[in-house]
Amino acid sequence: MAAAAAAISLSRAIRACAGAGSGRSMASSTAKEVAAAGARVAAAVARREATPEDGRRVQWVFLGCPGVGKGTYASRLSQMLSVPHIATGDLVRDALASPDPFSKQLAEIVNNGKLVSDEIIINLLSKRLEEGAEKGELGFILDGFPRTIRQAEILEGVTDIDLVINLKLREEALLAKCLGRRMCSQCGGNFNVASIDMEGENGGPRMYMPPLLPPPQCESKLITRPDDTEEVVKERLRVYHDLSEPVEEFYRSRGKLLEFNLPGGIPESWPKLLRALNLEDPGNERSAAA
Ligand code: ADP
Repeated sequence: MAAAAAAISLSRAIRACAGAGSGRSMASSTAKEVAAAGARVAAAVARREATPEDGRRVQWVFLGCPGVGKGTYASRLSQMLSVPHIATGDLVRDALASPDPFSKQLAEIVNNGKLVSDEIIINLLSKRLEEGAEKGELGFILDGFPRTIRQAEILEGVTDIDLVINLKLREEALLAKCLGRRMCSQCGGNFNVASIDMEGENGGPRMYMPPLLPPPQCESKLITRPDDTEEVVKERLRVYHDLSEPVEEFYRSRGKLLEFNLPGGIPESWPKLLRALNLEDPGNERSAAA
């Protein structure tokens, strides 16, 4: 990125970050800290873009309601395309697990289904991008960011997003999937014990999503996320419709949004998603069955 363009990006990010004042949570920061956070995102992105042209990798974003499967498909694509899968939800959960006294405040927000402040997310994301830049990472698939218009504007101010994949699934299925979600406390693997079998809507085909069961070594170590209770999932869905759905329109109007209605579970959806993306999976059937 040319120095002048980098400087413009930087100031845009700072303005975008520092500009919004309302709706701050208790755990939010001062305007100065916010500006610093914006500068750090811009710097981290600029360092990534300083790599040679032929090293350019995809810069994609996954949007979609809680439980839709952003993590599952983003992680598979990141392996295929050799780019990091960066999930802000994971960054938040790592921060929650840290001994920092501020993590208690953060837990209160997350476990009530609310969004953490843009400033905190930008700080966590910029730290993650900086660490990646030091390791020579190129490109990314973002999952769970941006989740507000302001986050989308900040991201637009610092780098070009090539494609935004908007995953869609019926609301009843979303709730069932969140309630069936389990994680292995040892290896961090994500599984789902729900078996979803629903009549088609308006004469459409039946929807079947088989469970994604853990291997025997993980079975006794499964945990449920504290924010995957029925009450909190419903609140997260409400927050998504309220604050994150407008982000879909933000990218639709820029011609970057690919809408993808999940037809069923992974075996059915993965090959169709690849087709929609014009990609071929070298491992094809074997990995689709996972
Ligand atoms: P979901 O299954 O709801 O998509 P995630 O794992 O992506 O959940 O995120 C978990 C929680 O972390 C969110 O409910 C929210 O509190 C917080 N979070 C993650 N990403 C963001 C973001 N971009 N902005 C604000 N809060 C976020």
